[in-house]
This record gives sequence, structure tokens and C-alpha cells, in this order.
Amino acid sequence: MDFDLSDEQAAIQKLAKDFCDAELAPNARELDRTEAYPEELVPKLFEVGFLAATIPEEYGGMGLDYLSYGLIVEETGRTDASIRSMISVNLGLVSSSLINYGTDEQKQQWLPQLASEGLGAFGLTEPDHGSNPNGMKTFAKRDGDDWVLNGSKMWITNGSRGLLTVIYAQTDDGITAFLVPQDSEGYEGNPLHGKLGLRAGDTAEVTLTDVRVPGENVLGEVGKGLRIALHSLDSGRFSLAAGCTGISQACLDAALEYALQREQFGKKIAGFQLVQELLSEIYLDLEASRALYWKVAWKHDKGERHTVESSVAKTFCSEAAVRNANRAVQVHGGYGYSDEYPVGRYLRDARVTTLYEGTSQIQRLLLGRHLTGINAFV
Ligand SMILES: Cc1cc2nc3c(=O)[nH]c(=O)nc-3n(C[C@H](O)[C@H](O)[C@H](O)COP(=O)(O)OP(=O)(O)OC[C@H]3O[C@@H](n4cnc5c(N)ncnc54)[C@H](O)[C@@H]3O)c2cc1C
Repeated sequence: MDFDLSDEQAAIQKLAKDFCDAELAPNARELDRTEAYPEELVPKLFEVGFLAATIPEEYGGMGLDYLSYGLIVEETGRTDASIRSMISVNLGLVSSSLINYGTDEQKQQWLPQLASEGLGAFGLTEPDHGSNPNGMKTFAKRDGDDWVLNGSKMWITNGSRGLLTVIYAQTDDGITAFLVPQDSEGYEGNPLHGKLGLRAGDTAEVTLTDVRVPGENVLGEVGKGLRIALHSLDSGRFSLAAGCTGISQACLDAALEYALQREQFGKKIAGFQLVQELLSEIYLDLEASRALYWKVAWKHDKGERHTVESSVAKTFCSEAAVRNANRAVQVHGGYGYSDEYPVGRYLRDARVTTLYEGTSQIQRLLLGRHLTGINAFV
């Protein structure tokens, strides 16, 4: 495994860092406070290519390797996790599904749009079916050459302001993935407000009332949708791990800066051993997080499957981000409890990462099954 970035990767990292510091960082607090959708930033994210990072060049994307993609996601996670989430879903969950399972026509139709103008959403979770999608109630029935979808989806990132949602629905042959344009008649995305974190992100409840899509909008094989969802989560969890590493980096940056200027008992608090312990622990978790997501990128770029590695990285990096945000708040004392400093936002934004794309409990069951061969899910 190579721990040196190539010149191209280093250039991408610098581009991402500069862009995020100039465009995302100055707006993050206000967007979080007002729960406002980053209307003006989304076109800039398309323009700079971040929303097209892993889409092949022949479809208008940047065609980057996974480590470069991870570096972009880490930088966006460091500055605005709501925006990181949008990118992860557009690329990690939606575009990757099209790249791996789409027909040539589907790729031609959707990838250039996902690379340049509209966001993709991933519609798996339902109000009553989260960790276990098997019993989902959204169903699709054939009607001539078309399919007609009915049901509802919950917590769908990019679900009300996007272009396309991959809807997973029951069919007579099992769960099937459908490409559903968000402007379809009967598709309604209702933004959810009052979230603890990721407050600038579009998270929606989606209802589908007699939504009609043509047969060519089936993604992959009828009845084999769950396989697509699980495969795409390998990429989604990688992206999540990289974004959490960004949160951990932000925690270290903020805690160090504060500790080096705040004085108590006549000296900088950075000089107290117990504050140094907090800073060191943030650093330890940060370094381990980065190594874990880089390992996933390394496997991906060699063309190997990385289900287990993605699960390990997602679990560790998300839990590390929560621990680190908590430590960063602690270093800030009472000031950490207000949004005068960003560390409270880091904690709120980090908190969801142990819940979505498979909770920490579900990840442990996946890893337990990998280690023992025994399924302890039910
Ligand atoms: C901000 C946000 C964005 C999201 N974006 C998307 C999206 O874009 N697309 C999408 O499809 N979904 C999305 N989700 C949904 C997310 O993936 C689910 O919330 C998650 O999978 C957990 O499902 P649940 O909330 O129904 O919890 P449940 O499955 O009801 O779990 C509740 C608790 O029970 C535990 N539990 C469940 N089963 C077991 C078991 N077998 N053994 C041990 N413990 C268990 C869980 O770990 C958890 O602690 C998002 C969620 C949020 C909050």
C-alpha cells in the first residue's frame, strides 16, 4: 500500500482544500443555523467537478481514482458535512450503481446529468423498514411495458431537490431497483426539518403515488435490487469514512487552535497534560481513520471488492468522529457549547454517521458474520 500521493492526487487535494476553505467554510455556520439549502453552492460544486469525481470521463465526469475521490470527500467533510453527504450519495450510492449495473443507454442518459446538473438520491429506507429492508412495503406492479410504483421512503438525502432517485421496491420476483426521475407525476419529496445535524442538507420523506416508469428504468435485473443496494453501500461507506476523517481533522484543527490561545491559571491550556491528552487522542483516532479509508481506496483502485474493509472503515471512522467532536467540545469548555465555535456543529454532524448506511450495530453483525460464518441478524 502506497502512502505517497501522486502529483495528480496532491493537486486534487490542494484544489479541494482551497475550494472548501474559500467556498464552504465561510457559509457553513449560517447554513447550519438557518437550515438553508445551499442553493448557490451546488452549481459551484458541479462546476469544480466534485459532484462528478468518480463518473468516467466519457460520461462527462472527472474519472478520478478512489483515493482522489476520498481526498475531495475528506475536505468537504472537514468544512461542511451537509455538503459532503450530498456528494457521497450522488457518487457513492447512485452513480456507482449506474456505473456497475446500468445499461449503456441508462449510463448515456443519466451519468452526464448527474455529473453536471442534478443530484442523485438513494431510496432504500422506509418509515417502518430501516436496518432490515427485506420487508419493505413500497411495491411496483407491471402494467404493459411500464411499472407503477406506490409507497413511501424515509430520510432520503437529495430526495426533494434532486434529479433522480433510485427507488427500491418489492416486485413479484423480489426487491427491484428503479430509476425514478424526481419530476415524475406522483413523486413527492417533502423536506424534513429539525434534524440534529446535516441541517443544510436535503433530507426528504418521499411518497410515490402511482408513479409510472418505463420498463427500461429497471436498474439491473428484476428481483436483484438488494444486491445493487449492498454493492453500492461498499462505495457509500468508503465515502462516509473519508468524510468522517474530515470531521476528525476539523476537530483537531479547532481544538489545537483554541488550546494554543486560551489561557487559564496563567498559562495556555495547551500546556496542561490533560488537555494534551485530549488533543493526542483526537490525533490518534484521526490518523487511524485516514489509514483505514486509504486502505479501502487502495483496494478499489486495484479493482478488488472491499465490502469488509468499507464496513471496518465506516464503523471506525464514524465512531472516531463522534469521539473526536466530543473531545473538541471538551477542549473548548463552555465556549464549545455555543455556535460561536464550530465544534458543536461537528458533534451534531458526526452523530448521524453511526446511524446511516448501516448502524454501528449492523456493522458489527456484518463483521461478526464475516468472522464466524454465523448470521446473528435475527
Ligand atoms: C440524515 C439522514 C440521512 C439519511 N439518508 C438516507 C438515504 O439517502 N437513503 C436511505 O435509504 N436511507 C437514508 N437514511 C436512513 C438510514 O440509513 C436509517 O436511518 C438507518 O439504516 C437505520 O434505520 P432506522 O432509522 O429505521 O433504525 P432501526 O433499523 O429501526 O434501528 C433502531 C435501532 O435498533 C438497532 N437494530 C436494528 N436491528 C438490529 C439487530 N438485528 N441487532 C441489533 N440492533 C439492531 C439499530 O442499530 C438501532 O440502534 C438516512 C438517515 C438519516 C438520519
